[in-house]
Amino acid sequence: MPFRPRYTGLIERYRDRLPVSSDTRIISLGEGNTPLIKLQNIPRLLGKNVDIYVKYEGLNPTGSFKDRGMTMAVTKAVEAGSKAIICASTGNTSAAAAAYAARAGITAFVLIPDGKIAMGKLAQAMMYGAMTLQIRGNFDDGMRLVKEVADHAPVTIVNSVNPYRLQGQKTAAFEIIEDLGRAPDYHCLPVGNAGNITAHWIGYCEYSSAAGAHVTDSCAFCNGDCKFASGAIVSNRPKMIGYQAAGSAPFMRGHMVDHPETIATAIRIGHPQSWDRAWNVMQESNGWFAEVSDAEILAAQRMLTRHEGVFCEPASAASLAGLMKDIKSGKIEEGATIVLTLTGNGLKDPDTAIAQCQGEDKASMVTIDATLDQVKGAILDNMA
Ligand SMILES: *Cc1c(COP(=O)(O)O)cnc(C)c1O
Repeated sequence: MPFRPRYTGLIERYRDRLPVSSDTRIISLGEGNTPLIKLQNIPRLLGKNVDIYVKYEGLNPTGSFKDRGMTMAVTKAVEAGSKAIICASTGNTSAAAAAYAARAGITAFVLIPDGKIAMGKLAQAMMYGAMTLQIRGNFDDGMRLVKEVADHAPVTIVNSVNPYRLQGQKTAAFEIIEDLGRAPDYHCLPVGNAGNITAHWIGYCEYSSAAGAHVTDSCAFCNGDCKFASGAIVSNRPKMIGYQAAGSAPFMRGHMVDHPETIATAIRIGHPQSWDRAWNVMQESNGWFAEVSDAEILAAQRMLTRHEGVFCEPASAASLAGLMKDIKSGKIEEGATIVLTLTGNGLKDPDTAIAQCQGEDKASMVTIDATLDQVKGAILDNMA
């Protein structure tokens, strides 16, 4: 019986579409190849005839899509002889940088906002052995410092300003097209720095004959003559929809925001690094930005766990929160095929999850004596 070859990561799978050569040493943890799960209950609860698929990026090796970009960024840093990488992070980039640096045998420095990072992400950065610098400032302060220090110290920046990050991340769009046999009609993502929405658009364009030559300015490697572009696998491209948390929504305000606030710490970013590119994506794809409140984000996160068995972190749930509004309002029509990126794993932020469950009317945890009576009582009280 023929065996399937072992999956060894997205660079190996999409080697011909990524800037690596046959003697590049690949730094991989088997990232990518994440499931595209069709929602069964939420469309019914919405009372709408729509096909919604979630791309569960929380199943990457460090629990977020950042691994897709980091395998490329660290591979190229090592190829260039770099001994250290650095990033500013709301948490997931630092976890990924730390893990891939450990794998490569180089040093990672990560700048995180003091006290504003989810517990799982902090545990990862420390455990993988990154030098963790908690700054008394937010992500945008960290990003500014990282750019400055890279001019003064021999470190490679692995934030999404590093063009290899987007190259790695574009592969999520390839996987979606291969799973669906076409591109979806809409693709929804939570937006922080707007690197990921840009990367997906690059991926969709490279697989689409509708793209013409290449994406204006989005592909860091083409200079107008893209050897990676126009794969012409499918003829359509999705409308891209970017959802922001209301307290942290520079794309909605139309300008940078100096004191972003949201419970969705992964998108608590007021000065997005891919500002121009993201506007280009919206224009080229006929998509839009929209915003959701923290309460809507948490309700969507809960809905996904409760009704579909899928646990994502708060930032990821922003895309479902926004999508449900756009479906209810009719902005997204019935019959549409929609893909949502669930950017990170729910286990990243246990504190927010537990606090939310404790705040519910109906307790999902009680403490009882270790007796048959009490266990039986608890079961009979709680049968649906
Ligand atoms: C990084 C991140 C985002 C935002 O992605 P951008 O590329 O910065 O827009 C959203 N959700 C999670 C979980 C993230 O880690």
